[in-house]
Amino acid sequence: MNNLSTLFTTFCLVMVFSTTTSAQQSTEKCGFNHAIEFLNQQNPNYKQQIDAIYHQRVTEANTKQANNNKTIYTIPVVFHVVWNTSVPQQNLHDSVLLEQINVLNEDFSRMNADTNNLRPSFIPIVGNAKIQFELACVDPNGNPTNGIVRVSTTTTFGGGFLPNMSSIAKIQNTSQGGSDAWNTSEYLNIWVGDINGGSTPSLLGIATPPAGLSNWPANSIPPELTDGAIIQYSAFGRNNPTAISNMVVNGRTVTHEVGHYLGVRHTAENTFGGLFGSICGDDDGLIDTPNCDQSQQGCNTSRNSCTDAIPVVGDLPDMVENYMDYSDQDCQNSFTQGQTLIMRSVLENERIGLLNSPALSNCVVGLTENNQPNTIFIYPNPTNGIINISSLENMNLTITFHNSIGQIIQPIIIGKNQYQIDKKGIYFATIQSNTLSITEKIIIQ
Ligand SMILES: [Zn+2]
Repeated sequence: MNNLSTLFTTFCLVMVFSTTTSAQQSTEKCGFNHAIEFLNQQNPNYKQQIDAIYHQRVTEANTKQANNNKTIYTIPVVFHVVWNTSVPQQNLHDSVLLEQINVLNEDFSRMNADTNNLRPSFIPIVGNAKIQFELACVDPNGNPTNGIVRVSTTTTFGGGFLPNMSSIAKIQNTSQGGSDAWNTSEYLNIWVGDINGGSTPSLLGIATPPAGLSNWPANSIPPELTDGAIIQYSAFGRNNPTAISNMVVNGRTVTHEVGHYLGVRHTAENTFGGLFGSICGDDDGLIDTPNCDQSQQGCNTSRNSCTDAIPVVGDLPDMVENYMDYSDQDCQNSFTQGQTLIMRSVLENERIGLLNSPALSNCVVGLTENNQPNTIFIYPNPTNGIINISSLENMNLTITFHNSIGQIIQPIIIGKNQYQIDKKGIYFATIQSNTLSITEKIIIQ
């Protein structure tokens, strides 16, 4: 385990329907409360401490109410793909991992195409976190990397309805058949493997919340999990050929877990026994997330379980579109402004190491030869549509653009090496000369 001082763990245990009858009443999609209680039993100040951090971030968010900061924060990611040699398909293809990064980038910059599905009454409260994710290009030893660690194993991890935490944690330890974390203060570590012991998945994901109070007792660090997220391989990505077949898997398990990692909690936060009083049951504390008496399964847009007093807009229905609900993944498309403020504040405080990380220094994605990352420039980036590309060496460049799912895009040509793309989103420009080929991400906002 690395960086024990930052290991303050909670768990999100997402339960899936494993039967086709009577599933609605028996399903508990998230075991957050069980895990918190479990850790708190061993570390008596645990719950109090993480709640204190959350309370502080919520108070800040409610005071600000809107995210006017234009700075885009970028988080370096390392994927640890830990695959069992008896099930080789667990060794997910790079394309599945890269597509998961695309999902995160879309969801955390509000560029996901399904924002169109959001009911109009929620538009005043939703927010753009302005957070991006990139696979690390420098490893903890300073060496080049593609940000993907692959480990084959014969160990099985977890299993059972309520997971065996110490068994799952093996995936985070090389000596136990898993993969050791990279410095958890400088990388978002995401482990991908079978954490259900070969059984039908009941647990889809686990994430650790931010921590870092100066008065955190040294002996209260839960040793069970390392900081980061652990994702069931079959609940990962949105182009995953091994995805669970009886539910939509479009990458939102990771969006939800990274939300927890960045400090946000469920929209029906009934885990903490009245942290914010009994507002229609209990609440996440944010003034702009509609209150609801319980988490929602499916995608029921007719439910309004609580009366809200949200500034300007008043009452809203239960927000099944929220990534932090338990609704179906293809129903989810939004964070609220309050949630985005919490995540940004966590990045500026408990997780500031991610923003100062050397993991993304001079990254050039897809460089195949002539390692000269500073000879080609794409600017501005992010852009409102105009893209300029220049080369220090006045090379003849061949430039092609793709969207985030790999389709070729034809931009408007407005000059030599100057282009325009009118539709907001995330694109990739592949620039080739006779000496090099690079691919860089471009954000149109
Ligand atoms: Zn959760």
